[in-house]
Amino acid sequence: MNPPATPLPLAPTRCPLCGDANRCAVAQGQTPRTCWCMSAQVPPALLEQLPREAVGRSCICATCIAAWNQRGVIRRFAR
Ligand SMILES: [Zn+2]
Repeated sequence: MNPPATPLPLAPTRCPLCGDANRCAVAQGQTPRTCWCMSAQVPPALLEQLPREAVGRSCICATCIAAWNQRGVIRRFAR
């Protein structure tokens, strides 16, 4: 029983959860030091929601982390 594959825009500049721009400094050609994610705590439970192919490739966006921390919800692609 495999769920139907969802076409995700797996670009390094896109959040793999919601598809919004993740504003990752690395993806924009800047040093990781300047990225917002260096000071953000990404909840492990949220990381577990990522598609396996997105791990280590696309950053979650700050909005998704905030939504998870505040409401315990995972933002998905709005269709
Ligand atoms: Zn997101």
